[in-house]
Amino acid sequence: MKLVFLGPPGAGKGTQAAGVCQRFAIPHISTGDMLRAAIAKGTETGLKAKVFMDQGQLVPDEVLVQMVKERLSESDCVNGYLLDGFPRTVKQAEALDMISKPDVTVDVEVPDEKLLARLTGRRVCMACKGTFHVTKLGDATVCPDCGGELIQRDDDKPATIQKRLDVYHSQTAPLIDYYEKCGSLKKVDGDQAPDKVFEAILVALGG
Ligand code: AMP
Repeated sequence: MKLVFLGPPGAGKGTQAAGVCQRFAIPHISTGDMLRAAIAKGTETGLKAKVFMDQGQLVPDEVLVQMVKERLSESDCVNGYLLDGFPRTVKQAEALDMISKPDVTVDVEVPDEKLLARLTGRRVCMACKGTFHVTKLGDATVCPDCGGELIQRDDDKPATIQKRLDVYHSQTAPLIDYYEKCGSLKKVDGDQAPDKVFEAILVALGG
């Protein structure tokens, strides 16, 4: 199954992707995670991307398209993939159609006012990449799952969050129309408990 997760930052795409990938035995390909790994390694792509990411801007299409093209050519993608965070522009969607056309696109929908609260309180584990909200962490200072260090992503600071939401509405939301016209779009209400969102995604995927 070739799957794309659409939806604004903070919609819960990463959390849901983990369960869906396990269920369908496909790799979870998060372009945000790939870029953060490139930054941590200090590669040329990472250095280039960091400038855009720190400002809440999109990294140029050609960088992302090349990165995803290489990743999709790896052997673990033979049975499909789940792309989380790509495509984010119509140009990227057109490029993906040429590389490996997705079967289903799931749009996880959450209103902006909820996203702001989710993103400002989000903490990420440096080790297992799990995400948690401060309201659920209580006194915990390390990851409840693996004991790894919890951090706040640089782009989860309030000034950058608003920019990312603006970028989502102007550049990524048009993809909802794009995939609706392709006939591959499934809309899911992301404004409910994570296990309910998961059930709704499975229903959208036909089990
Ligand atoms: P994410 O973890 O998906 O929220 O991505 C974090 C940041 O990485 C975004 O705000 C962008 O700066 C950059 N990024 C990730 N995926 C893409 C993409 N498909 N196109 C352009 N920039 C991206």
